[in-house]
Amino acid sequence: MNLSLADLEHLYQLPFNELIKQSHEIYRQHHAVNTIHLCGSLSIKTGNCPEDCAYCPQSVHYHTYVSKEALLDADDVLKVARYARTLGVGHFCLGAAWSIVPKGSAFQKLLDIVRKVHSTGLQVCCSLGSISEEQAQALLEAGCTTYNYNLDTSPEFYPKIITTRSFESRYQTLQMLRKTKLKISCGGILGMGESIADRLKLIQYISQLSPQPEMVPLNALVAIEGTPLGQKSFIDPFEYVRIVAIARMAMPRSILAMAAGRHQMSFETQALAFFSGANAIYIGERILVTPTPALNADLDMLKKLGMKTYENNIDIR
Ligand code: SF4
Repeated sequence: MNLSLADLEHLYQLPFNELIKQSHEIYRQHHAVNTIHLCGSLSIKTGNCPEDCAYCPQSVHYHTYVSKEALLDADDVLKVARYARTLGVGHFCLGAAWSIVPKGSAFQKLLDIVRKVHSTGLQVCCSLGSISEEQAQALLEAGCTTYNYNLDTSPEFYPKIITTRSFESRYQTLQMLRKTKLKISCGGILGMGESIADRLKLIQYISQLSPQPEMVPLNALVAIEGTPLGQKSFIDPFEYVRIVAIARMAMPRSILAMAAGRHQMSFETQALAFFSGANAIYIGERILVTPTPALNADLDMLKKLGMKTYENNIDIR
């Protein structure tokens, strides 16, 4: 049964310890709580994106540190994927800064990339922008298992962050994707200036997809100089953990990933998020173009917490 907005608001009002105790119990019923998924990612086409997402250094509308790169060669992507596999990564996200997935030769090249990454044994996730049903089907046949398509924030706050597309069109595409056999990764970004109500509505919209998304990445805004949100301060860690806990209760079976912003969180914050229900992290040098913690620091943290990874059943201890 889906939780209503009133349910989520009630949970949000709970004292912190009560909230994370309840979310941990639900987490424990559905997952192995000392085991997490390791995810990797690679930006296969970088920058020059026509969308105006206020948080994104890849938008053509802002001047940032990101330099443009055309679609990478499949063999270069394959090398990175093989390396990720050696780290114990199981889920590998290919991101491209497109508004709409291209057709023709670029799409054929993309399918070749997906086939090669799939051949390594990694689960392939694609994050490529708006996509047609035919293209989604072709990706699936090439070996893509998951399509990432974030809702970012609530419908009300959306126009303050992105004006070049609408929340509604985004939601319609998600419903189209839900009819295919692709898994869905759908999350958002916290700390962009949105209200608590906006955060809860985001969680409610994501959790209303039927079935619920297999993966939910929860990003904390990384303020990038040159973007309109470049001066925002980092989200309060307890606020972030509260939303992790509420997302876990709203979506008991989904993989809940701590995505961008984790490099700005302490080990202690991350440990609280794991306790509350987060069960995936992105490792490697970066999540697309956003930094991640150093690999050794991540392995050290997981070792201290006595955690294992699902993929390859690597025991970090
Ligand atoms: S978030 Fe994606 S769609 Fe938005 S500007 Fe960046 S690359 Fe483009």
